[in-house]
Amino acid sequence: MTQSERTGNTEEENAVWHSLTPEETLQGLNSSSEGLSTEQAQERLEQYGPNKLPEPRRRGPLMRLLLQFHNVLIYVLLAAAATTAWMDHWLDTFVILGVVVINALIGFLQEGKAEKALDAIRNLLSVEAQVCRDGKRQEIPAIDLVPGDVVYLNSGDKVPADLRLLEVRNLQIEEAALTGESVASEKSTEAVAADADLGDRSAMAYSSTLVTYGQGVGVVTGTGAHTEIGHINTMLAGVEELATPLLRKLAVFGHWLSFAIIAIAAITFVFGLVVRDMEIAEMFLAAVGLAVAAIPEGLPAIMTITLALGVQKMASRNAIIRRLPVVEALGSVTVICSDKTGTLTRNEMTAQRLLCSAGVVQIEGVGYQPEGGFLLGDGEVSRDDPLLQEPARCALLCNDARLEHENDLWQVAGDPTEGALLTLGMKAGLDRAELEKQWPRVDSVPFESVNQYMATLHRDTAGEDLVCLKGAPEKVLALCDQVRTRTGTTAFDPQQWHDDMDRVAGEGMRLLALAERRDQKSRRKLATADVQEGGFTLVGIAGLADPPRQEAAQAVAECREAGILVKMITGDHALTAKAIGQQLGLGDEVKAITGSEIEAMSDEELRRVVLDTEIFARATPEHKLRLVTAMQAEKQIVAMTGDGVNDAPALKRADVGVAMGQKGTEVSKEASEVVLTDDNFASIVAAVEEGRTVYDNLKKSIMYILPTNGGQASMIFMAVLLGLALPVTPVQILWVNMITAVTMSLALAFEKPEPNLMRRPPRNPQEPLLNAFMGWRIAFVSVLLVIGSFGLFLWQHYHLGLHLDVARTTAINALMIGEAFYLFSCRFMVASSLNIKGLFGSPHVLFALAVMLVLQLLFTYAPFMQALFETRSMP
Ligand code: ADP
Ligand code: MG
Repeated sequence: MTQSERTGNTEEENAVWHSLTPEETLQGLNSSSEGLSTEQAQERLEQYGPNKLPEPRRRGPLMRLLLQFHNVLIYVLLAAAATTAWMDHWLDTFVILGVVVINALIGFLQEGKAEKALDAIRNLLSVEAQVCRDGKRQEIPAIDLVPGDVVYLNSGDKVPADLRLLEVRNLQIEEAALTGESVASEKSTEAVAADADLGDRSAMAYSSTLVTYGQGVGVVTGTGAHTEIGHINTMLAGVEELATPLLRKLAVFGHWLSFAIIAIAAITFVFGLVVRDMEIAEMFLAAVGLAVAAIPEGLPAIMTITLALGVQKMASRNAIIRRLPVVEALGSVTVICSDKTGTLTRNEMTAQRLLCSAGVVQIEGVGYQPEGGFLLGDGEVSRDDPLLQEPARCALLCNDARLEHENDLWQVAGDPTEGALLTLGMKAGLDRAELEKQWPRVDSVPFESVNQYMATLHRDTAGEDLVCLKGAPEKVLALCDQVRTRTGTTAFDPQQWHDDMDRVAGEGMRLLALAERRDQKSRRKLATADVQEGGFTLVGIAGLADPPRQEAAQAVAECREAGILVKMITGDHALTAKAIGQQLGLGDEVKAITGSEIEAMSDEELRRVVLDTEIFARATPEHKLRLVTAMQAEKQIVAMTGDGVNDAPALKRADVGVAMGQKGTEVSKEASEVVLTDDNFASIVAAVEEGRTVYDNLKKSIMYILPTNGGQASMIFMAVLLGLALPVTPVQILWVNMITAVTMSLALAFEKPEPNLMRRPPRNPQEPLLNAFMGWRIAFVSVLLVIGSFGLFLWQHYHLGLHLDVARTTAINALMIGEAFYLFSCRFMVASSLNIKGLFGSPHVLFALAVMLVLQLLFTYAPFMQALFETRSMP
């Protein structure tokens, strides 16, 4: 199959972009390396439509409605309806069919609502793209991309459309979504053969693939459905179902329950016929009644609603769930591993110290506002001092951030660490634009957490080139052999510097060393190998303060109460991390180990210390993966945060991967189950709380519904055993089940978290759904319901001699009243409900009861209901 056969037949799609040169491609797309203008883009957007993949093909509404009938119980009911029709009991047939249809409709509507809610939440995660429009680099929603747009790619991005690459810088892209190949492939701008396979078209970057390394620029060749990913139909079938481990367990449980119940019903049927000598028709109805009574047919719909409500609650508390099953895992999390910068801290950096050969300079001022002086000891330092000027220049040149000044508010666009350095440079009186004119940047090695440094190469108009380096002191100092002084340079004495560094780090500041090198080689490119050559001059070390988030400290305290361990994993210095850990209250005595210590340990050794250590400093993403693995080997349920490309393996490995919605890369979001819209540690804890609540409420619904079924089934069973009249008819049972399911048990889905929710230890995921206590309670309540309801029936019918229908009506009403009381009891797992809060605390419960009362009055006294359900007004 050729390219043109497979794709549509518009002119653009027939072009084989990968076999054309960049210039030919730009020409073919009527674009230029400067991209499109806003008007052009607007026109094309109208012509080609938004850049979004066609909606996954869903089951149609009719199919979804029909699927509601695909259920063993419904089959039993339908069989019952057919038999009653055959026996000429048309009224029964009609009612049974009516209930079946109503039940299906309710399930259908609830499922639809739940799915819509989840869709809405998923749509909160929009993707942005960096483009060149009107000759300016800007960020636009990826959905607005059109063919001809020039797009910038960075490591960590998800490719937003099909692109013909125009420029690459070590660009590597992982195309598993498209080709199934999980090893990233190296990209280039060279044209390839027209008939090359998808995986070999190295000049293309395809929509939905992931940039794992480097940078690139490409021109959009196809958007939306007209992309390679858009052509693959199988991808589109991947709609997530509303399923979690618990729901699946429950479905299996339901299956077995159905079979067991049918077996018991069959035995009862035979027993009645043989031992009690009853009529076939009557016995059949009794057996059907038993089966109908025992099966909790309303449960699946309630589970769905409870889950969807939980996911909505989490979204409103800034945690977006990307994969549903994680809702349960969240409730059983035992360890939260969190990044420090931006998650536990505010990520509002201020350079407050500058270490130089004369000592530790204090920097005045707050925030990013470039105002403040410099103090050394008790005296002021002039900002023109060469000891300040050199590091300030390095800070401004080796920098990709921008400061924005609006309405007296200074804000940073880009990395806050770099923003703080811009402020530092400006406090020293330097002008960045001037500097960049004098030393234009030729090339750079961008910051990667594995390298822990960033370097830039600058052409000096006066001659020698300049390499600026900034990064973690461990890395930078190793590359320096001398130190800047007021008058020149001296040899580097590590001891003095280390004492000062430890002191500043001990105050919780992150350290960033600044160094320079004169380069005569007139290089055109700068690679890590060039930096590793060393020979740098240390010009200073900045100490950046980044205060902890207040709400994070509270959330940490909450975790400790809830039996959840909190670990800080950071690229920062151990002393910096320890100081922040102490301020956050991570432990009574905070212990830290570093990445190199982790490396020296075997897996067993790591397992031994991993739970007792609060802080893992100078850690790289690889260490994160080892840490998760070690904790999981210690039977922990681990939530792990991450933002970079390289965090993806650890995020995938963790039970709950948590990505940062604001500063996180698309790659890290793809690998995660949860995305935080505010990047805040407290939101993880909120999600854990909601996860626990959902699980509680699921349990409460089960605990509420099962005794209803148990009670009804036992009543019929006993009636047959004793050879008595049935206390309730099958259609009456259907009524009871339906009303309890749609009114009262639904109210439990809205139940708020219990006060002790976050004071309990985490739930063991291995623990069975129903523990001994719940089993006992279900049995006990079943018995109480039987005594109340069956007792009244026996008394009225056999003792007072009232009509059978009257006694049955009484029995049903007694059952409903019993359940109404039980509903209050179920609101709390163990606490008593006999207090103001327990009785009136939930409007949903009161509303459900009111609805139930009205329905019961109709059921008992309305003539048409009396005709349908054979009820009678009670005396
Ligand atoms: P964290 O886990 O706290 O986010 P990072 O991996 O971002 O840590 O940073 C680790 C170290 O790398 C920092 O202590 C700092 O010394 C250095 N560093 C951080 N950001 C930059 C940057 N933009 N340029 C150079 N070095 C940086
Ligand atoms: Mg960082």
